[in-house]
Parts: sequence; C-alpha cells; structure tokens
Amino acid sequence: MDFIIFNTCTVRDNANQRVYGRLGELNGYKKRNPGMKVALCGCMMQEPAVIEKLKKSYSFVDLIFGTHNIFKLAELIWTAYESEGMIIDIWEGTDKIVENLPAERKYPFKSGINIMFGCNNFCSYCIVPYVRGRERSREPEEILREIKRLVADGVVEVMLLGQNVNSYGRGLGQSVTFAGLLREVEKIEGLKRIRFMTSHPKDLSDELIEVMKHSQKICRHLHLPLQSGSTRILEKMNRRYTREQYVALAQKIRREIPDIAITTDIIVGFPGETPEDLEETIDVVRTVKYDNAFTFIYSKRTGTPAASMEQVPEAQIREGFDRLLKVVQDTAREQAMQYQGRRMEILVEEVMEEKHSMECPSSIVTGRLSNNLLVHVPGDASMIGKLVEVSLDECHGFYYTGHCV
Ligand code: SAH
Ligand code: SF4
Repeated sequence: MDFIIFNTCTVRDNANQRVYGRLGELNGYKKRNPGMKVALCGCMMQEPAVIEKLKKSYSFVDLIFGTHNIFKLAELIWTAYESEGMIIDIWEGTDKIVENLPAERKYPFKSGINIMFGCNNFCSYCIVPYVRGRERSREPEEILREIKRLVADGVVEVMLLGQNVNSYGRGLGQSVTFAGLLREVEKIEGLKRIRFMTSHPKDLSDELIEVMKHSQKICRHLHLPLQSGSTRILEKMNRRYTREQYVALAQKIRREIPDIAITTDIIVGFPGETPEDLEETIDVVRTVKYDNAFTFIYSKRTGTPAASMEQVPEAQIREGFDRLLKVVQDTAREQAMQYQGRRMEILVEEVMEEKHSMECPSSIVTGRLSNNLLVHVPGDASMIGKLVEVSLDECHGFYYTGHCV
C-alpha cells in the first residue's frame, strides 16, 4: 500500500480510541514500508489535544488536516510527498463553502448531499459545533444543480444532510426555508425519493409537515432525536424543548402523516441523570412508539460544558442502557409488524446472497421501503436501483422477507 488516509469522527470518545488503535497497528507496517504515507483528516483533527498527542506518540504520520480545508486534498498530498516530516494544516474555522468538489459515489442510484455545514446549537454534551464550526447553508441553486447532475447520472434517491436541516437557509441573502427547498427538490424530474437528516425538534415547522404530507417523493421517515425524555435533563443538555413539546410534536406528525416511521437518538448517562429521569425517557419511547432508536452511552467530550458536570456512575449507566434498549427493541419490533401482508414499494439496493438452495433457486436482493425498513425478496442484480412493488410476507423484527408482485 502506498497511501492510507483515515477520515475521523470524534462525536464519541470510542471513535478516537479506534483511530489510535489503527495507528498502533500501522506503525510496524510503516517501518517495513518507509515509502508509504499515512494521512489523517476529519473532526478529530480539529481538537488541539489530539494534535499534541499525535505529535508526541505517532510522529510517523505524514499528513494531518481538518474539516475546513478538505478542498486542498490534492495539494496537501503533493506536499506530503515532496517534503519530510509531519505536515499539519488545520484551520480554526471558515465562513466559506467550496462548491463543485469531485466525488466518488458508493452507490450509483443514491447519494447524500450536504445542504449545510457546521452547527450553532451547542448542545452541552456535543463536540460538533467546536470541530465543525458555525452553521453555513449552501445556496439553493447550488444544491438543485448538484441534484440535477446526480439524477442525470442515474441517481433516484437523495439524502439531504445537515446537523439541523430545519434551520436551513438562515444567513443566506435570500429568504428560503428547508420546506421551501424541499418543494424545489420535489420538482426535479427523474428523482424518485427524497430523504433528509437530521431534524432538530425545536426548529421543525408546520410548513415542513405540510410539505411532507403532500409530497409524492419525500420518504415516510423522520429522524427526530430525543436525547432525553426528562425536561430537567433536556434543559441541562441545552436542547431547548421540553418533554411535553417533543411528544406533542411527534404525535402531530403521526396524526398528519399516516404510515410515517419516526426514529430517534437517545443518550444514557448524561451528567446528573437519575433512574427516574431515564424512566421518563423510556416512557417517551413507549408513547411515541419509535420505529427505531440509536441509543448511546454518554461520552465525555473535553471542552464541552457537560464535561465539567458531575458524571453518572458507570454501573447505573449500564443498567439503564440495557433497560432502555429492551424497550426500544420491543417497540421497534411491534412497529415493524404492522406492515405484515401489505404491498409496498422498495428501492432495490444490493444482492444479498448468491443462489445456493433448492427451495430458493434465485438469488436474494435487499431493498428499502419509503419508511426505511429493509425487505429481502428473490431477485437479481438487474433490479439494483429500481423501484419495485413487493408483498411483505414475513416480519423478522427489523426486516421483512417478501416477493415481487
Ligand atoms: N445534529 C444531530 C446529531 C449529530 S451527532 C442532532 O442534533 O440530532 C449524532 C448523535 O450522537 C446525537 O443525536 C447524540 O445522540 C449522539 N451524541 C452526540 N454527542 C454525544 C456524546 N458526547 N455522548 C454520547 N452521544 C452523543
Ligand atoms: Fe450536536 Fe446539538 Fe448540533 Fe446536533 S444540534 S450537532 S447534537 S450541538
């Protein structure tokens, strides 16, 4: 191998630990292959303490850059090959967005599109605003142009990405909302499905619900991070909504958009969280009936306000996490069950298994429903990227098996 680059995440500390683990493995390899270059980029590199540690203990790394100067990649690689020693190029922030960078896509038929960068919310546990900088929205024309180009290239599903898509458009010269942007994306001919994430509950507008309700293309799935179901903890987290406001919002969405799947993120063990607080979170899970939830153990991030608050004992966190996970899984299974026997459309994503049994002579493909549930049906590679109608025959908890109709 000639060149290795790690694009890093730092939202939780275990991501950082994995990077150090990988670097440890690479050290020996690099000694045997001195010509090989090792580069690191991404959020973790925006933390000054990380850079200090890399300089001290991983001095064999050749190139380090952060989140604000990715557009310099080619130039930085060139410099790394031209010079000796560790090259470090980290920008503290930027108010610019560099457009039209080349991209290699993983799937020919679907693509993510950043509609904004950074975050201004400063939830007290979260490192994102520090490593990603202030919120900046892309001009709607740039976004629409990119999507049209992707559709011309065979993309049928897009995922609009931002830390808080509901505040899209703030700070742009023209007045444009996220709902307004979605209306324009909907008009793009040839585009079949629109997804987006993440929605901050505090900024989710009635206009967005209205647009989703009447849309033919926006998928029946909303990721609406809860973080905690205790108003007391939500306040300490600086989330700026109460348990009651969140539940009322989720119920309104379920009422207005039937069949919508609501998924969420939950943190267990935020400083000061008691078993009673967690009980309130579990209660919200039961009330909202999440179709899926990502549960995280609180991770202390240096420099965030929560890092200096009193931490919860580990045993309490473990016990609470397991209790929550069970309810989350039971609820998700129950939610998934309700589609049994229905006919719905999937976008076929990949071939699962090659032909191997007498009972099932064809291969199996996996596809996604609008609500994000996976379905396995007999089929072949020619179906990849196509929307096909299937019957949902058997629910296996988090996915269905079915057949084309
Ligand atoms: N902007 C998105 C979330 C981005 S981070 C939002 O506000 O919803 C993705 C998820 O990681 C968060 O929703 C949160 O649940 C989790 N997370 C962020 N910081 C964390 C921390 N310090 N410890 C544990 N989980 C964290
Ligand atoms: Fe982090 Fe909160 Fe911003 Fe999401 S909204 S990225 S959780 S600070």
